[in-house]
Amino acid sequence: MTTITAGLNNITQEIPVRGMMANVMEQFNSAADQINLHPNIRKILSITNNEIIVNFPVKMDNGEVEIFTGYRVQHNNALGPYKGGLRYHPTVDIDAARALAMWMTWKTSLAGLPFGGGKGGIKIDPSKYSKDELERITRRFTFALADNIGPEHDIPAPDVNTNSQTMAWMADTYMSTRPPAERTANQHVVTGKPAGSGGLDGRDRSTGYGVYLSIKFWAEKNNKTLEGKTFIIQGFGNVGYWAGYFLEKDGAILVGVQDAYGSIQNKKGIQVEDLFKYIQVSDGSVVNFPNAQSVNKDDFFGLDCDICIPAALGNQITKENAPSIKAALIAEGANGPINVEGEKILLERGITIIPDILCNSGGVVGSYFEWLQNRNGELWQYDEVMGKLHKKIKESFDKVYEYSEREAMDMRTAAYCIAIKRIEKAYVQRGIFP
Ligand code: GLU
Repeated sequence: MTTITAGLNNITQEIPVRGMMANVMEQFNSAADQINLHPNIRKILSITNNEIIVNFPVKMDNGEVEIFTGYRVQHNNALGPYKGGLRYHPTVDIDAARALAMWMTWKTSLAGLPFGGGKGGIKIDPSKYSKDELERITRRFTFALADNIGPEHDIPAPDVNTNSQTMAWMADTYMSTRPPAERTANQHVVTGKPAGSGGLDGRDRSTGYGVYLSIKFWAEKNNKTLEGKTFIIQGFGNVGYWAGYFLEKDGAILVGVQDAYGSIQNKKGIQVEDLFKYIQVSDGSVVNFPNAQSVNKDDFFGLDCDICIPAALGNQITKENAPSIKAALIAEGANGPINVEGEKILLERGITIIPDILCNSGGVVGSYFEWLQNRNGELWQYDEVMGKLHKKIKESFDKVYEYSEREAMDMRTAAYCIAIKRIEKAYVQRGIFP
């Protein structure tokens, strides 16, 4: 049995995501109130455009057939094709897919991309399936989605427990179902592909790089340096690992990590690269990493540190653990890691939150670059990609930071206000058909 790791993270345990939709709606409504959003546009943005649920059969290695349920929710495409990841996780359901699709709409709008928002996945624990089975599941899911996705219509990408290999299978399946002359012109049906198959050099680290950059920009605004600052990460998958990698390069010290299997700490520091090498030989788990002590699951977020990076699943920081958080800054690598009640406590305590739709937007910005690269038949160089990512994240960060200072509001509300205003403008300009 193999586990697909290195998606948005590698958390595979069952964590309830109930209420994700309630969270995103509450965040949306409070920002909509702030900007006096027109009631008609509020109505439009409060619902999802399309919800696709597919049940499809796949032959398992033992010859038996299993039926899987896959989702793709397309929230809004006022600004361009639907864009967002596909996750493979037991918590995937229609509520989670809707909420995550909405978050993508705000994220792409805030980043100034010509994309809307979508999200989906399969309700599955991928660690229970072989690599061959996962390939057949992915290909059959792609086939079932059929023309509900497309390079100018809806463009999936990796997310929790999916990765560049998943995207390579999807692209190959989608392209194989097109007429021969149109096959390569459809390569940008998904982003996050391997660099050798139309993927973008640097896309693998773009989310984590964006998380690191937002922390760095925040530090700069507050006349601080990252040298010697301590941080903890929940989820040592693609996002957590790369965020840690870049922070460590700037002199910050990783002092605690939690994944689906357990939590570890070392006040003197955990070397990011050593931990990464360790999880390659430990079935993806950080548990029993030498040079660290194990920590009780419930004590993790209370560890002493300057910066906390939740980079796993939603609803991880709640009213239960928010009072114990020591960090002065929380950088949301995951989507929706803090629920509304938890956030209220954190804000009252004066803790700054760099919101998900800004903090982890490096991933979808990288996806946009990949999409452009494929669309234009180009191959972009790594340095060029990283430079452009830096510029984009800086622009978004500055916009949100300045808005929040000017309007005396938290960064999440500021980010939402900017994102929603851009969509509102498009609706006002275009009107409603017919
Ligand atoms: N799954 C990532 C996210 O939540 C990336 C989405 C994409 O690149 O389309 O932002």
